[in-house]
Amino acid sequence: MSGQSRFADLEPLLPRVSKPLQYVGGELNSQVKDWNCGGSETVRWALMYPDAYEVGLPNQGVMILYEVLNEQPHALAERTYAVWPDLEQLMRSNGVPLLTVDGHRAVKEFDVFGLSFPTELNYTNMLSALDLAGIPLRAAERGEDDPIVLIGGHASFNPEPIADFVDAVVVGDGEEAVLAISEIIREWKAEGLQGSDCGRHEVLRRLACTGAVYVPAFYDVAYTEAGMLEAVTPKPGIEGVPWQVSKHTVMDLDAWPYPKQPLVPLAESVHERMSVEIFRGCTRGCRFCQAGMITRPVRERSITGIGEMVERGLQATGYEEVGLLSLSSADHSEIADITKGLADRYEGTQTGLSLPSTRVDAFNIDLANELSRNGRKSGLTFAPEGGSERLRKVINKQVSEQDLVDTVAAAFGAGWRNVKLYFMCGLPTETDEDVLGIADLAKRVIATGREVSGRKDIRCTVSIGGFVPKPHTPFQWAGQLSAADTDRRLTLLRDEIRSDRRYGSSIGFRYHDGEPGIVEGLLSRGDRRVGDVIEAVWRDGGRFDGWSEHFSYERWMRCAQEVFTAMNTEHGWDIDVDWYTTRERDELETLPWDHIDSGLDKAWLWEDWQASLDEDEQPDCRWDPCFDCGVCPQMDLDIEIGPTGKKLLPLTVLGSGREAMLEKS
Ligand code: SF4
Repeated sequence: MSGQSRFADLEPLLPRVSKPLQYVGGELNSQVKDWNCGGSETVRWALMYPDAYEVGLPNQGVMILYEVLNEQPHALAERTYAVWPDLEQLMRSNGVPLLTVDGHRAVKEFDVFGLSFPTELNYTNMLSALDLAGIPLRAAERGEDDPIVLIGGHASFNPEPIADFVDAVVVGDGEEAVLAISEIIREWKAEGLQGSDCGRHEVLRRLACTGAVYVPAFYDVAYTEAGMLEAVTPKPGIEGVPWQVSKHTVMDLDAWPYPKQPLVPLAESVHERMSVEIFRGCTRGCRFCQAGMITRPVRERSITGIGEMVERGLQATGYEEVGLLSLSSADHSEIADITKGLADRYEGTQTGLSLPSTRVDAFNIDLANELSRNGRKSGLTFAPEGGSERLRKVINKQVSEQDLVDTVAAAFGAGWRNVKLYFMCGLPTETDEDVLGIADLAKRVIATGREVSGRKDIRCTVSIGGFVPKPHTPFQWAGQLSAADTDRRLTLLRDEIRSDRRYGSSIGFRYHDGEPGIVEGLLSRGDRRVGDVIEAVWRDGGRFDGWSEHFSYERWMRCAQEVFTAMNTEHGWDIDVDWYTTRERDELETLPWDHIDSGLDKAWLWEDWQASLDEDEQPDCRWDPCFDCGVCPQMDLDIEIGPTGKKLLPLTVLGSGREAMLEKS
């Protein structure tokens, strides 16, 4: 019978693998619904975060969709994560397919296999999952009984590199979208079309016709003789398939207070805290930041909505730390009242508050003191991103060196001893001098800290990531810095920091080498041809490419060369990894994601790219006039952000009275 637990097949394998607890399920607030909870119309989702359990379980996106779907009487959702190679091997040799961690049901028996991709480096894990599940890798080879393979997450804003492996793509916010998709599938099942001839084609057609689900199989891809992408266009003869697919945007976050019952991991995970998303979107306009661009417009959760979510979540989980999440949390229009209100409420309860990282210009000591009032003074993290004033203008960071020095002076004066600074290497127009400027900045931070505090134990940790140009940003046309040049610049910087006796030992230096960034660049800005490279890498053993111990640059480059050489020979093209990564694009070039509508006007993105080359800055449209990026008129709205003027009341009444208090606030 379908939907049966296969735990009895899995259990004997677990003592032979590392971290077996991650495959067991049964976490606090997890659920296993009746397989037929909605009768014959039940829509069953297997949701996957295609990385290890410890990274995947805290993911808010999957947690939210899991809960939203399971609240529906006609739907059920279960989770699965990437299986480490030790268990994968044992499952294959023992004939055990990919299972969910909740009901240990076979993923292949679900109606939808939904994967959320925050990063492209998880693509090979998707192929492992499909193969282990017994689902054909390529959408074109799937039969009527196979699940619909559907992806979402930030990487889906350019789904072309994995277009041949997926049936459907959702772009943007998922909460409302999964319910709309469930309803289409429920109706399709109610009409008896599942398993019928062309049933699969029909449900995909219905999804595509919404205009908000991309079905790659319904689009033709054309290349010029020289191998440039010419166009991605709807196939003739399939009525209603749109030329451009629009992103979903949830406008009222207070109407979606999820997760209400956050999952608490059984096994070790990267975040042992509860998270509440306090707003979505960002209009700061940092030109490198894909997340900021594609999640516009800014939508704030109200102070009372946040208070309610924190209280309900703490009760449901028992956590003692609350992370107030967003792309730039200190920018919430009521952040001071939120942090003060929460610190008052939980005074003396050991409940700590944290913000992921703080903009230099949004930081103030009152905010930092509220955050640390019920906990300890942990390190502060700021992200100047660029090492010189000039480069920060290019990327539109709008933070001066003096801003940073003033901010850290305030922090050191208030008792902090440790500051982390985050930068990128390889930004457009960057020179060696810009990168060496990071060392000067770090030394000035230490000198300021010593002076203000009168102490010697001041530390500054410099953390550097390689810049990867991303789709739907002004830098989508930029050439990426090669891995060798990135490594050379970082070595120069490391030597510069270490050679200074007065400051070197007070500055920590963490960096990633340039090679994974080139693979990420290939997968981020690639077109449909890159899919063959991903499959070749996976067949060669590629797995868990986001983990340095599993990542093999040599394998990626070898497979890419084999695939592209064969294509070039057959078609007379001249494409290779450099063509996709280090090459700067022209204004008129068709980009692989042009048919995915993020709401941003391509002409505005180009203007902003040109402005960056002129070192022109663009202000934040929350406080300055609109500069016509295109998002708001398309959604027919004017940006309206708090403050609401409300305050959080203290929670002194226990039990049901506490609920009443929450209502009133
Ligand atoms: S349309 Fe104007 S107000 Fe809206 S996000 Fe873009 S720049 Fe800001």
